[in-house]
Amino acid sequence: MRLYSWDQAEPLDDNFWRARLDSAIALRQRLFAGTPSEQACRLIFSEGDGLSGLTVDRFGDWLMVQWTGLAIAQREQVILDHLQSKLRPRGIWRRTEKGIGEAEGLELTDGLARGEQPPRPIFIEEHGVRLGVDVVEGHKTGCYLDQRDNRLRVARYCDNAKVLDAFSYTGGFGLAAVVRGNAASVTAVDSSGPALEIAKANAELNGVAQRFTFERGDVADWLSEAAAAGRKFDVIVLDPPKMARTRSGLNRAAKGYLRLNRLALDCLVPGGILATCSCSGLVDQETFLDIVAKAAVDAGRRMQVLEIGRQATDHPISIHCRESAYLKCVITRVE
Ligand code: SAH
Repeated sequence: MRLYSWDQAEPLDDNFWRARLDSAIALRQRLFAGTPSEQACRLIFSEGDGLSGLTVDRFGDWLMVQWTGLAIAQREQVILDHLQSKLRPRGIWRRTEKGIGEAEGLELTDGLARGEQPPRPIFIEEHGVRLGVDVVEGHKTGCYLDQRDNRLRVARYCDNAKVLDAFSYTGGFGLAAVVRGNAASVTAVDSSGPALEIAKANAELNGVAQRFTFERGDVADWLSEAAAAGRKFDVIVLDPPKMARTRSGLNRAAKGYLRLNRLALDCLVPGGILATCSCSGLVDQETFLDIVAKAAVDAGRRMQVLEIGRQATDHPISIHCRESAYLKCVITRVE
């Protein structure tokens, strides 16, 4: 279901949408005014901002807009007009999510919605790390902004460490580990060639390419081989894509998480740090911790939870829709 107001008498007219957009934008100003995140943040987070079905990310002078609900997509004109007049972006680019079109009856395609074509990549800064973002071909809207704070959290454990950034995408965790955490080396593993190309360019952009190795492959296969070869890391980041999209997929997701975490433990030195993430909203934090605990038991390793990070504050959680609290980043030490 999609809920926009608890008040049946409240009209969902143009002023309603404008007020919701203003409120969402005001929050980001409060969070980020005068910092680099102002130029690289989620401006609108669907349910979290009372705008179910709308996601807007800002990357420099461009906005990326994603519609995942029919009712709100039908208000595209008023919403884009308001974003344009309030924020004056150079362009607005539309991204669509696989499968959503059919589910919602939406007929939208990726492409320019307003203004000028975005450059490829657009450069942003996060914690002093420079990142190129491909908003056209990249995943989602181009960059996983939700992990911003967790990248810095994990970096604090990386001094002089040998780091494995598994499911690296464009290298967010690994780059923070080196630039902010002074990691000795990072092995970045991902199945996407284009993502690794951007990761490589990002490492060069930050002048730390010599500390990086990039390996393309399936993480589970890669970990099995690495374990068999006796390869060990001081810090492992596991940040797989969403595994549970529906309730009926929960069992499979749990097995997937268990397998990955179990495999990662075999490649972790005693006393190493495992930062294990889940972005499946349907797998709640307690369930995820149970799965990680089982992996530790199966591996015969003692595990301590040090920190649990969640999505960054520009992805606020609706108190009435706690599935919107989707991201967990559990940082553990493993004996
Ligand atoms: N850690 C990243 C975000 C990861 S998103 C960051 O901080 O930006 C998930 C990534 O997993 C994507 O880049 C996707 O290409 C990759 N991926 C999906 N399935 C995979 C698999 N089986 N093996 C390796 N990588 C996979």
